[in-house]
Amino acid sequence: MSTQELPTRAKIVVIGGGVGGTSVAYHLAKFGEKDVILLERSELTSGSTFHSAGLVGQLRADPTLTKMNMYSVELYRELEKSETPASWRECGSIKIASSNERMAEIRRQIGWAKTFGLDLVEISNDQIKELFPLINLAGVVGGCYMASDGQVDPSSLTGALAAGARRGGVKIFTHTRVVAINTKDNQIKSVTTDKGEIECEIVVNCGGMFAAEIGRLVDVRIPIIPMSHQYLITENFIPDQVKFLPSLRDPDNLIYFRQEVKGLVMGGYERNSKPFTATANSFDQIPADFNSKLLPDEWERFEEIAANAAMRVPAMGEIGFKNFINGPEGFTPDNEFCLGETSVGGFYVAAGFCAHGIAGAGGIGKVVAEWIIAGEPTMDLWHMDIKRFSGAYKSPKFTLERVRENYEAYYDIHYPGEERSSARGENKSPIYDWHKENGAIFGEKAAWERVNYYLNPNEKGLDQSLRPNGWVGKHWHSAVALEHHATRNTAGLFDESSFAKIKISGARSAEFLNLICANNVVKGVGRTTYTQALNKKGGIESDYTITQVADNEFLIITGTAFLNHDKGWLEKQMRENNFDQVDIGDITKELACFGIWGPNARKILQKVTETDLSNEAFGFMNSKMIKIKDILLRATRITYVGELGWELYIPVKDGLNVWLALLAAGKDLGIRPAGYRAIESLRLEKGYRAWAGEINTETNPYEAGLGFAISSKKDNFIGKASLDAIKDKVSRKLTALTFTDIKDVAMGNEPIFIGNKVVGRVKSAGQGYSLNKAIAYAYLPIEHTSPGTSVEVEMFGIKKVATIMAEPLFDPAGERVKS
Ligand SMILES: Cc1cc2nc3c(=O)[nH]c(=O)nc-3n(C[C@H](O)[C@H](O)[C@H](O)COP(=O)(O)OP(=O)(O)OC[C@H]3O[C@@H](n4cnc5c(N)ncnc54)[C@H](O)[C@@H]3O)c2cc1C
Repeated sequence: MSTQELPTRAKIVVIGGGVGGTSVAYHLAKFGEKDVILLERSELTSGSTFHSAGLVGQLRADPTLTKMNMYSVELYRELEKSETPASWRECGSIKIASSNERMAEIRRQIGWAKTFGLDLVEISNDQIKELFPLINLAGVVGGCYMASDGQVDPSSLTGALAAGARRGGVKIFTHTRVVAINTKDNQIKSVTTDKGEIECEIVVNCGGMFAAEIGRLVDVRIPIIPMSHQYLITENFIPDQVKFLPSLRDPDNLIYFRQEVKGLVMGGYERNSKPFTATANSFDQIPADFNSKLLPDEWERFEEIAANAAMRVPAMGEIGFKNFINGPEGFTPDNEFCLGETSVGGFYVAAGFCAHGIAGAGGIGKVVAEWIIAGEPTMDLWHMDIKRFSGAYKSPKFTLERVRENYEAYYDIHYPGEERSSARGENKSPIYDWHKENGAIFGEKAAWERVNYYLNPNEKGLDQSLRPNGWVGKHWHSAVALEHHATRNTAGLFDESSFAKIKISGARSAEFLNLICANNVVKGVGRTTYTQALNKKGGIESDYTITQVADNEFLIITGTAFLNHDKGWLEKQMRENNFDQVDIGDITKELACFGIWGPNARKILQKVTETDLSNEAFGFMNSKMIKIKDILLRATRITYVGELGWELYIPVKDGLNVWLALLAAGKDLGIRPAGYRAIESLRLEKGYRAWAGEINTETNPYEAGLGFAISSKKDNFIGKASLDAIKDKVSRKLTALTFTDIKDVAMGNEPIFIGNKVVGRVKSAGQGYSLNKAIAYAYLPIEHTSPGTSVEVEMFGIKKVATIMAEPLFDPAGERVKS
């Protein structure tokens, strides 16, 4: 194919001929896009793909990724029957627990596998031995088995995808290097290769570990670091009478195995990770001729893994190996892929597969091709969306630290409430030092340090009896319950300075926002509106509060982690709907934000301002400029905890003064500084939705219980046509469940049963300290949502009874908020 002349025009150019690029091209062709070119600077598979170990596992911690990997298996089975088979072998897989905590995790996974109809079953040690006779069972607590997992030859798979793409009309050019990507008005125009220029509308960066370098051609930061990753292949030694082995993972010992001919492939995740080329000052300067190459063996880094392998499979200590592979692979800072459209219109990425790109390739190709064709994701891909990364990842040091931490913890159990230890302290609130001096325990979100809760070891009333059962309670702290109660009974003071703040201004800003938002957000200066921004399918792309601060100026407040995502969505809509005279600005770091909420919030705030805060003068969802200690700031009467109160937006330099003034004013009125864990508990009781929690691009406002935030008066906004079509056909509903034992805390993804039938899976969960109950939310078929219905939720292999409740669970009349 490379002997063909390079066209001068194509609609879509895919860069990279690994398993990622060929899968994207295959699916584009499958979905009818014929005008597609794939460019590979060397040979197909010559990046990371050729040296992959080829294990394909389906069940992942994220439901979307699980569905994608399940699709990969379906596709590989199909390809196996095609004229270019992928060498797919459905040999099954075993995961063993070498600790009790891991066994609990496995039981939890068996539960959530049921929600996908996956064939994951618990097996005994005898069954493990029967399926994998080479194993030494010392210290093995138990395990699970999935018959439909398998292994594939990465080069055959790439060849099969490339052949399928070609059959569908894709033109593939090897030995063709992209050297520049050209844009006009922040939109893709063409790519320049070493063989000529190709005009195009869309570029898909499938550059694997080279993706960051390709991103730099258009000044887009793609936080992918090439990391060295190793495995070995033994001599043939498995006796003929042994049935072909399933793959075996022993994450407590950091190792995996799969059969290769009559030998074993054995690899793992080293605790002493090593970037291939990145340093604290440079991202990833991969040599320009690094194709079809491996790195030198690094035995000393592999010793722990080799010793663990010899313990688990004693034959490993006796037989020789015929091949040692040290190959680089692109890893991201959170071990999830980088997918989707970047901040440059038409510039997509599908890279950073973190050593599960062979398992993921089928699903990745499908969702990225769908995304390109629809112009928006067709599934909830937030965890993989390139826009999840905050500006902090522009720093090589920050990215490198995070990538290393995540690589080394790849096989660890991730407990709820766990925090990262690397790359901390990047973004801080103006009162960070005050928090620190006052016992704050910080968490991190999008590189911001935020208070989880405050620790005062001498405090009385700390109640250990509420600690969630099992390892769910590992990072739990009883101080959260006290902060919760203070907010309900007197007043909580919260630092929410990390909230993303976007200023929309310009002559057409009102018109623009009313096209983007499902609610009417143009209600007059000083009015605040809660709204969703929808995609064309009516799915929820963003969840904002918007205040009209002037005739042609609006303040959007959205979650800390969603700045790039939400701003990117606004910019995309502005571009695609030809809006001029609209400016979109990030003012996150200009304003601190404090929430003061609780029955005493008005009394406290009134002590420090002359503005009348009475209900009559300052109603709910109104916003005004007020003065505290001569500091002019914005006060918005709103709540995310279900209590009377205000959010205050203050110039950063004045943050500490205002914070101290509020504390002093509230001293005799029971004010208590409180953190994000308390907010979570309070908002769950009130049923306030969280984007990426209960709502996302796959859920629509009607099923999410947000129909009240859709304007019935507007005749046009993005997603309206779809909403009108689905309004009377809603088949599932977000539903609140409570458990009588407050310690029965779900983590998400647990199956929900009525009788023996799985009717849904838990979406979000936590503890409600005012209700004294554990709470969970789930989308359930509408016929199963009647309050009072009893269901069972399987947690760690045990079914717990829960009751469906009417919403909101707390203060249903909303009297406290409007008091
Ligand atoms: C040791 C090891 C073991 C692994 N084991 C497994 C496993 O068991 N299971 C699993 O699922 N995954 C595994 N993986 C991961 C898997 O191999 C990768 O995720 C996958 O191959 C990455 O594919 P890719 O297409 O993104 O990248 P690549 O295969 O690296 O392809 C990117 C391509 O882009 C090309 N390119 C770069 N720049 C340009 C340019 N400017 N112009 C044109 N072309 C360009 C490169 O030449 C390259 O061919 C393993 C990886 C390693 C290293």
